[in-house]
Amino acid sequence: MIYVFDPILKTLVWGTELWVLSGVAGSESICSAVSGVRQEEVAVATHSLVGRSLNEIYGAEFPLLIKFIDAKKDLSIQVHPDDTLAAARHNCKGKTEMWYLIDTAPGAQLLVGFKQRIGPEDYVRLVKENRITEVLARHDVKPGDVFYLPAGRVHAICGGCYLAEIQETSDITYRIYDYNRPGLDGKPRQLHTELAKDAIDYKVYPDYRTHYSPTRNEEVELVSDPHFVTSLYEIDKPQIIPVPRTAGQSGEKNFLILIGLEGEISVSAGCTDSACKGAQSQIVRAGSSVLAMDEKAVGISPLGGSARFLAVHL
Ligand SMILES: [Zn+2]
Repeated sequence: MIYVFDPILKTLVWGTELWVLSGVAGSESICSAVSGVRQEEVAVATHSLVGRSLNEIYGAEFPLLIKFIDAKKDLSIQVHPDDTLAAARHNCKGKTEMWYLIDTAPGAQLLVGFKQRIGPEDYVRLVKENRITEVLARHDVKPGDVFYLPAGRVHAICGGCYLAEIQETSDITYRIYDYNRPGLDGKPRQLHTELAKDAIDYKVYPDYRTHYSPTRNEEVELVSDPHFVTSLYEIDKPQIIPVPRTAGQSGEKNFLILIGLEGEISVSAGCTDSACKGAQSQIVRAGSSVLAMDEKAVGISPLGGSARFLAVHL
């Protein structure tokens, strides 16, 4: 079945976040439509599923959070703990995430990782001296760029970036530096300098960017992490995409998230690995997503020439 969820818009001081798929308590996605069921089952499926939360439908806390982030101004510099540290400190998951840049203003940049080796004490001192940005790696960005951010990697989105963010379901963020800006109440926002100190990966890596070769009508894997696998598709003809079996805890369902980036696609359920039986389809536009669950495969057709989308699974 294919599920459509109402997006949740969050307006923040620096721009907007559109949460298109969320199992975060208090901000859970609510199902607004289903498709991929036989005609005679539509009424029952709609009645029993529309209005339900993502976690209710999934049967557990949904493991991934998908957002579109439109940054008008620079976001604070932050880091997330890994699963082990987050479990010990907050009794929840940590956060590994990735970014796919959809649109960028001229001169747009991201801060990801360190460009020079520092230690925990240097970090604390540089934050106090308002100099932490001096040691961070700054990246010029353009549409299509991808950054993988394993837990522990220091990062910040700068103004002029519109991106899709895929991450673990977790709300734990340690704010490292906020450019001494006042928050909504006029006071500087709280920093989590000490908490972040043990969560940061201080290692310097040669390259923080994910490199890939776009290939039309083929799966291009961007990130494969224990928490999620994300692939890019640029298609101008129909495709059948298998929905991988999830080797998860009992009760978890296998799923595939489709995130529209450019153009429109029609997504059909009721497909096998080789054919689609022509069940009902759902249109996915740029800036929206759908969840295919309990399917062997989905059929994708570009509408109006070509389309680009991301496919995400566990
Ligand atoms: Zn983050």
